[in-house]
Amino acid sequence: MYKNLIKDIYEYGINNNVPIIKDEGLDKLLEVISVYKPKRILEIGTAIGYSSIMMAINSDSFIDTIERNKKMYEIAISNISKYNLSSRINVYLGDALNIDINLLNNDYDMIFIDGAKAQYRRFFLKFATLLKKGGIIFTDNLSFHGLVQKYRDNTLTDVSKDLRALVRKINDYNIWLKDYKEFDTTFFDIGDGIAISIKR
Ligand code: SAM
Repeated sequence: MYKNLIKDIYEYGINNNVPIIKDEGLDKLLEVISVYKPKRILEIGTAIGYSSIMMAINSDSFIDTIERNKKMYEIAISNISKYNLSSRINVYLGDALNIDINLLNNDYDMIFIDGAKAQYRRFFLKFATLLKKGGIIFTDNLSFHGLVQKYRDNTLTDVSKDLRALVRKINDYNIWLKDYKEFDTTFFDIGDGIAISIKR
């Protein structure tokens, strides 16, 4: 249903193997946005702008989003302009881990972490400082196609060393997030695994 709204971008993503958010994850993201009505959202990982355009179309929020891949950035800029959303979506080109946080706002109501999965904890800690008290951090892909459970069950065999290391990092992030006392986190076993963390 959502994909019909901006079908061209959705189809470009699917046909070009751009990892855009899955429908179930998007449903939850938009549900959170409709309940909390965040004024400002920060997204880590723009890709071609699919999720940021979806968030903007379904809210009145202002969105800052960071993308390190120049080609993705350029496609995102063009998609955002095509849907007349350039006044509400601001795309930064660069590595989120290197960006000077002083260039960003310091009063986000919500942060959507969707960059490189191995770096989730670093993204969280860096950008949580820009989140208002009571604000939300939304993380997707926490079950990583069921591989995290396999890792826990010790049945993750026949995978490359690199993939195993990535799954271990995502598992470590889950554990760390559950115990991180500055946020209250709820995990949802929907889509590819979601966590919603509220800043105390
Ligand atoms: N949020 C997008 C959507 O659902 O439409 C999908 C984002 S895709 C899963 C991840 C994107 O994050 C890729 O385009 C990748 O280049 C970018 N990325 C990964 N690590 C990053 C980093 N450290 N800084 C900025 N962008 C990053």
